[in-house]
Amino acid sequence: MSERLGQYREEMVNLQRELVSRVAVGPDQGGPGEEEKALFLKNLLTGWGLEVDNYPAPDPRVAEGVRPNLVAFLPGERAEKAWVLSHLDVVPPGDLSLWDSDPYTLKVEGDRLIGRGTEDDHQGIVTSLMAVKALLDLGITPSRTVGLALVADEETGSGRGLDFLLKSQPHLFSPEDLIIVPDAGSPDSTLVEVAEKSILWLRLTLLGEQCHASRPQLGKNTLRAAAHVIVALEELPREFAIKSPLFEPPESTFEPTQKEANVGNINTIPGRDVFYLDCRVLPEYDLAQVKGRVEAIGRESARKFGVELRVEVVQELKSPPATDPEAPVVRALVKAICQVYGREARPQGIGGGTVAAFFRQQHLPVAVWMTVTHTAHQPNEFCLLSNLVGDARVLAHVFLAED
Ligand SMILES: [Zn+2]
Repeated sequence: MSERLGQYREEMVNLQRELVSRVAVGPDQGGPGEEEKALFLKNLLTGWGLEVDNYPAPDPRVAEGVRPNLVAFLPGERAEKAWVLSHLDVVPPGDLSLWDSDPYTLKVEGDRLIGRGTEDDHQGIVTSLMAVKALLDLGITPSRTVGLALVADEETGSGRGLDFLLKSQPHLFSPEDLIIVPDAGSPDSTLVEVAEKSILWLRLTLLGEQCHASRPQLGKNTLRAAAHVIVALEELPREFAIKSPLFEPPESTFEPTQKEANVGNINTIPGRDVFYLDCRVLPEYDLAQVKGRVEAIGRESARKFGVELRVEVVQELKSPPATDPEAPVVRALVKAICQVYGREARPQGIGGGTVAAFFRQQHLPVAVWMTVTHTAHQPNEFCLLSNLVGDARVLAHVFLAED
């Protein structure tokens, strides 16, 4: 099995090339959607003799009027399933001048396969498909039925992807199944993600009074007030100080991030400033409590400058219950990673925002895992061919494991 997967290197590169060339940016980000890529994959899997179902989610913004969600099965000795869920969509390439090559043409440089989507999430697609192909080519029946899910809309909320699939097809997935989501991980393969922090994104708007910079006494400078508010908010990590060894970093984080443009010239004192706070909060805390403290601390600081502060929620995602670090899917993965990579993997929590949260909300045990280069969403995104071979071997081990 492992040997066979080693022979698929060229096929893996070719599959990456086909996937990279099919632009699957969602309509929220100005793209055509995932249809072309989904059709290609459906034809490929059908050609291998697999039955492929599509559960399309309505979306009038794309030409087809629907977003594809493909599900294929390779029957095993048992009806319980081992699932691998990957996503079809990619994020836009961003500033093209930051790329050394065309983002939608695969470039091979030694072990590196460069192009938009190669890691996020073609790596999941390629490794799961190749593990299934190895079983087919060798005529091996897996112990559990293998389920491949290839979903849309992961990058922009999953409302037309996994969230839709779980709501419209609640019987597809069972708590008895092993569910693996190859969409995040670590470069040394040892991060098996089982928990997430809650996410709270806040917009902070400071309202003062604009005036000429030569007569500041006539205005209320919101940029200066914003700077003081940001410093005052450094109190937050001291107030929400619980640490959990499951997470890296182990504490809640409260980062000022985006700052909207204010005035258009140097000699104007701004009377309106907007910045954002990205809070990643341990599951132990209530998000309403965090928002309350941001308002109280921020307002006290803004008041000193005669400036008003408004705090609005942009996104609020209470972290779902964690997957049990002893769940069968975690144990199976840890064992397979040890067999293939010879390393001791560890169930851990991350800062939040993976599609696995939708499974966890339904109390379906899921582990997020792959071997990454940490170039997802970046210019010159790449994956390593050696990781494709290694991760496909890990998945194949899980498919064959008796538990
Ligand atoms: Zn992804």
